Amino acid sequence: MASSAIASTPNPFLKQKESCFSTASSSPSFSKKCKRRGSKAVVAVMAPPQPQRPPSSTGSVKRAMTMTEKILARASERSKLEPGENVWVNVDVLMTHDVCGPGTIGIFKKEFGENAKVWDREKIVIIPDHYIFTTDERANRNVDILRDFCKEQNIKYFYDIKDLSDFKANPDYKGVCHIALAQEGHCRPGEVLLGTDSHTCNAGAFGQFATGIGNTDAGFVVGTGKLLLKVPPTLRFVLDGEMPNFLLAKDLILQIIGEISVSGATYKSMEFVGSTVESLTMEERMTLCNMVVEAGGKNGVVPADQTTFNYLEGKTSLNIGPVYSDEQASFLQEYKFDVSKLEPVVAKPHSPDNRALARECKDVKIDRVYIGSCTGGKTEDFLAAAKVFLASGKKVKVPTFLVPATQKVWVDVYTLPVPGSGGKTCSQIFEEAGCDTPASPNCGACLGGPRDTYARMNEPQVCVSTTNRNFPGRMGHKEGQIYLASPYTAAASALTGFVTDPRDFLQ
Ligand code: SF4
Repeated sequence: MASSAIASTPNPFLKQKESCFSTASSSPSFSKKCKRRGSKAVVAVMAPPQPQRPPSSTGSVKRAMTMTEKILARASERSKLEPGENVWVNVDVLMTHDVCGPGTIGIFKKEFGENAKVWDREKIVIIPDHYIFTTDERANRNVDILRDFCKEQNIKYFYDIKDLSDFKANPDYKGVCHIALAQEGHCRPGEVLLGTDSHTCNAGAFGQFATGIGNTDAGFVVGTGKLLLKVPPTLRFVLDGEMPNFLLAKDLILQIIGEISVSGATYKSMEFVGSTVESLTMEERMTLCNMVVEAGGKNGVVPADQTTFNYLEGKTSLNIGPVYSDEQASFLQEYKFDVSKLEPVVAKPHSPDNRALARECKDVKIDRVYIGSCTGGKTEDFLAAAKVFLASGKKVKVPTFLVPATQKVWVDVYTLPVPGSGGKTCSQIFEEAGCDTPASPNCGACLGGPRDTYARMNEPQVCVSTTNRNFPGRMGHKEGQIYLASPYTAAASALTGFVTDPRDFLQ
């Protein structure tokens, strides 16, 4: 679901700058205090001493700015800008998929004419991924509309699927759009990526300004390559400390959302820095940024570094221009976390901010486990789940569904050896543990989908899921209960039939 490009509410920047954040925490290890430093509110969450960070480059701009402000300044050809300003930005990449693509195309044709040409055939990326493996005629028709449009407009990046009986027979087909964008080199530091999907913020992991927009805005971008955007103020999250071996980035972002609430970052940028963030892989950084929209965030960003550049190697031939927040940049608020003190968490039904420690929910009996989606269906997510199954040597007690995000992830599941397994692949370990066979890559039941969608919740069951939303009806049945969790916690829960802290198997 997409967010509006321009907030209709007054800019909250000035009003909130002087305020001090305060919420209750359900985690005993999660104490905090609020203190003033200049006009900036700082929330400290058991933070250790901070290492000196190297000064950031100011590039060609004249005023201290955050990463997000700098990207938008560059994209709008301005030397400086401030939060709250509305600026016309030049878009580097526009992504749409089978759910919103037909609407976007309809608006483009209505407003620009039946014979109009898109602004740039190489900057539009169209990815069928949501409702693919279904007999639903309207869902299938949506993909046909995308195909016709891409042919008509000679769109360079269309990741088509024609043979639904065997996804492997479709070499162009990728799978879930946000992971496909990363794997195909469309996520590049310093650029602007807009998409008709709220989790487009996933690409912020690359130091890109990436956000979801509606079909109307997307139709305008398709025709012009521009969009009017309000510059968001930035919240900075400093994550330091060694990450315990039972935590994953999903725990970090659920911890943060539980702290600031589902509206805590409304129309704000969320910038993630600190030694823990620097140590995260690109897939884990994606998990962090993917869920900023669950706190209302406009976008999330992680500064590009060698990890980013290594990931991008061989994926793009375009020049990349990363930018970094200035040392004197003004952040609306700063939150500090000592990650070494955190514990595995879940988000209980029916909100991503309904945080609880996994061990506090050990009496919650579950009916199924789902591992998949743009948030929790990446290669490392499956490796993490396999690690828990391997460590336990036991079989799952509830149906456990596995939906790789993309075709590449699916191949990894079947080919990559799991560390410490003597060469076994994830698929072998999943089979030995009694999980369902990994399904064809797509969004699957993350969004419910048509009734014949694989692993859709058609009954009012309780599910532990690595997805990003647990609203009523999100995975199908309106009375279903979804506990959002990391792949570690999901796998541990599958082994017991209850919500389970992964330390029960990993220590
Ligand atoms: S996997 Fe789920 S959250 Fe991600 S794009 Fe698909 S439906 Fe949306």
